[in-house]
Amino acid sequence: MLQFKLVLLGDSSVGKSSIVHRFVKDSFDEFRESTIGAAFLSQTIKLEKQDDVTIKFEIWDTAGQERYKSLAPMYYRNANAALIVYDITQPDSLAKAQSWVDELKNKVGDQDLVICLVGNKLDLCEEDPQKRVVDTEDAQRYASEQGLLFQEVSAKTGAGVTDIFQTIGEKLYVQ
Ligand code: GDP
Ligand code: MG
Repeated sequence: MLQFKLVLLGDSSVGKSSIVHRFVKDSFDEFRESTIGAAFLSQTIKLEKQDDVTIKFEIWDTAGQERYKSLAPMYYRNANAALIVYDITQPDSLAKAQSWVDELKNKVGDQDLVICLVGNKLDLCEEDPQKRVVDTEDAQRYASEQGLLFQEVSAKTGAGVTDIFQTIGEKLYVQ
């Protein structure tokens, strides 16, 4: 069994904790309380493409608020992977995600850290396409320019959530 440390970063209310809960507990809570400081959870998966390989993710779910920003380096230092989450219905959240990408690249460099850009709340746009403010193509283009993995998800329906961890797990396994 391989163990990897994974950290979630992004603006508050984009759905970081909801993504972790969907992945770890396969549940969703409309009224999730906002994270204080950071929360630790873990989950084990079997890689679909190499089914004899089990990967344990040790997950640090950070609080997005500005007042906790100085704590973030404690969680991303020594991380093997980072999910940088934005909300596809919120105009500022991609820009915030991009500033996290810059910070990670400055502070930890590119050294084997697998970064995945994650656009959350896909269900809201499926209900009402007018709610989308971040185009898939724009985020996808930015991610490939920066060498990031990219996935749109819904923590609410679960769409795309396990894909993130499968893709990251495979990348960590081969590198
Ligand atoms: P965090 O601050 O980034 O950890 O965000 P939370 O996980 O606490 O979620 C913030 C709010 O967005 C909560 O009210 C969640 O119920 C809601 N939320 C999170 N993910 C989704 C999603 O995929 N779809 C919808 N419709 N709401 C979501
Ligand atoms: Mg949270």
